[in-house]
Amino acid sequence: MTAAASARQILTQLHEVMASRMHAQGKLDKVVEIVGESLDSEVCSIYLLREGMLELFATRGLNASAVHVTRMAIGEGLTGVIADQIETLNLAEAKAHPDFQYRPETGEEKYHSFAGVPIVYRERAVGVLCVQHVEPRRYEEVEIEALQTTAMVLSELIAHAELVDEEEALGLNSARSGPQTIEGLPLVKGLASGIAVFHQPRVTITQVVADDTEAERQRVYRAFDKMREGIDSMTSQAEFGVGGEHEEVLETYKMFAYDEGWSRRINEAIDSGLTAEAAIERVQQRTRMRMREIDDPLLADRMHDLEDLSNRLLRIVSGQLGTAATQGLRRDTILIAKNLGPAELLEYDRRRLKGVILEEGSLTAHVVIVARAMGIPVLGRARGLRGLVREGDEVLVDADLGNAIIRPAQTTLDAFDTRFAKSRERQAIYAELRDVEPFTRCGTRIQVMINAGLRDDLSSLNLVGADGIGLFRTEFQFLVSATLPSREKQFRLYRDVLDAAGEKPVIFRTVDIGGDKAVPYLRSGEAENDDNPAMGWRALRLALEREGLLKVQARALLEAAAGKALYVMFPMVSEPWEFDAAKSVFEAQLKYIKAQKKVLPESIRYGAMLEVPALAEVLDLLIPKLSFLSVGTNDLTQFLFAADRANPKLAERYDWLSPAILRFLKRITLATEGAPVDLGICGEMGGRRLEALALLGLGFRRFSITPVSVGPIKELVRKVDLEVLTNQMNGWLSQPPPDIRAALQHWAEGSGIEVD
Ligand code: PEP
Ligand code: MG
Repeated sequence: MTAAASARQILTQLHEVMASRMHAQGKLDKVVEIVGESLDSEVCSIYLLREGMLELFATRGLNASAVHVTRMAIGEGLTGVIADQIETLNLAEAKAHPDFQYRPETGEEKYHSFAGVPIVYRERAVGVLCVQHVEPRRYEEVEIEALQTTAMVLSELIAHAELVDEEEALGLNSARSGPQTIEGLPLVKGLASGIAVFHQPRVTITQVVADDTEAERQRVYRAFDKMREGIDSMTSQAEFGVGGEHEEVLETYKMFAYDEGWSRRINEAIDSGLTAEAAIERVQQRTRMRMREIDDPLLADRMHDLEDLSNRLLRIVSGQLGTAATQGLRRDTILIAKNLGPAELLEYDRRRLKGVILEEGSLTAHVVIVARAMGIPVLGRARGLRGLVREGDEVLVDADLGNAIIRPAQTTLDAFDTRFAKSRERQAIYAELRDVEPFTRCGTRIQVMINAGLRDDLSSLNLVGADGIGLFRTEFQFLVSATLPSREKQFRLYRDVLDAAGEKPVIFRTVDIGGDKAVPYLRSGEAENDDNPAMGWRALRLALEREGLLKVQARALLEAAAGKALYVMFPMVSEPWEFDAAKSVFEAQLKYIKAQKKVLPESIRYGAMLEVPALAEVLDLLIPKLSFLSVGTNDLTQFLFAADRANPKLAERYDWLSPAILRFLKRITLATEGAPVDLGICGEMGGRRLEALALLGLGFRRFSITPVSVGPIKELVRKVDLEVLTNQMNGWLSQPPPDIRAALQHWAEGSGIEVD
């Protein structure tokens, strides 16, 4: 029998049970029999949520006396974990799982394998359906899918038979009425306040088993057409003009909307006897499961686009169309969502949408790129959000500090208003510095440039009055794209960047892919086996191996810079020969373009990033080859301290103002002193005022920093007397005080320099 046919058989039996006049308990008893029989499993059990505990409601195979006796807390035992995480477990050996708990009254000691799925009602787990076998084995995908489909049928039963307490299911009991603070990850920095609006009430599926399969198929066809029409018109109306990253983001989104594989899977689910809604949900569940297994944030983001579309399709097919966007925002709003797709965000009225809080989200998610362009602060990874916030609650978002306050007290509101006002005042001061050149008190001109990588960043260049782009992260274009950007696409971006920069220099860093910036379409065998990707097959190492990649980029850059000055910087240079090898790829392309009689760049300067400590030992060999050297403190410090930069536990552990780092950086300034090479810094460290003060004291005169830091750093520079500062720093380097940070802060305050 095919998988679809066997699924159909289970569904038909379940349908008969559901349609019967049996009472709810009788139906549950019947369901465990049907599932147990079809999966040929010794045990099948249903646990439902009652008074906050998962209670055994029905079983085939466990001791009957355990029914309504065995109870597990959420998070306790395997069933508790399934309900808590809303995830499927498929275990060949249940006892080997760290959360396994043995309940003697059930008589389950003889069973080895275990598979369980959550029964979900309105996005919350209200129960668990599981099977157990004596024989240790992992369950097949079709078996897991049969369990998931049955769980959907059960959730329909629960909705109708009121088997679980509605309040409890919705978790309303946990929503308190007083102020609450939620911690999160700042995805787009900024402050915002408004009323909580839920992006979307979940679509409730009222019927799982189809009466007429052909009619369901037609419903899905129509819904697909309608959804695609909607997406097409949205992409053509996107208000950011043409050519931006958003366009690429939306194009990717569109690609998914037309994905044949997706519609085929939905049709297969309909073939197995499901309604259109249930089939869409079924496929979405499978996607979610895959997402959990993928340990690749970028691919997970793409999968999220698919989930966004799936929700959209579900709303169309069920006629439950209302999102908060379609109903219109009436007041200043903080949007609350599990996650959002880029198109969903674009549907909101920008004048009313002040901030976004997501339960999920990541820095590279498409929606975050779009929100950044819209200037909307986003707080992500806010766990437990929906249990704490209610529609209409007042919310303050502090995406600078990384938290949100729900139902704030009046004193908090007042304090927030003061911060808002202060931040506006500061912005005004910084805005006034836009055209002011940053000279120190002693008259040294400091170069303040920006780090960029997205087309949207270009507007910042003139807005903040920077001296140029000191680091253009070319890999960003690769990261927001679903496929390898063509040479033409790369060329257009580089040309537009150079046009926007005018006379100001732009330092293009060649692709720094790998490490935390993995792109799924560029996986090489070696990269896949990297246990330690930050130290693995990344950046220049990968680019040199994939010469095609570097060659294409070199051509795109050289042609984009026709008649202009071109600055090229290589990332993660570990030994001087890598610099030579990369440069020769460019030189070969230059020769080729010359032969074609194309316009050449007016000048080409090559530079390297100093991110790998080993390079500091051979600077005497490298420097004669370079025009410029830029210290990437983000990677350099992770390698100096052997501390993964992406590990939140280590984020606070080692200080940038430690003697080790400061002495190391001083060595570099000394090594380049007097050499005809421009030395700069382009890590995050340079954008913080206290750290920037230290860097000035070590001899750095060129900073490339995040655009919002340009104003604050310019203001700082104007207060500094380099000679005094340098003497002070030299003293601390030779005899470090116990806490250089505290000492520097104290010194700055005494010198009238604000560093916060
Ligand atoms: C750095 O490592 O300091 C740097 C600027 O590069 P990235 O953060 O892109 O690795
Ligand atoms: Mg780096």
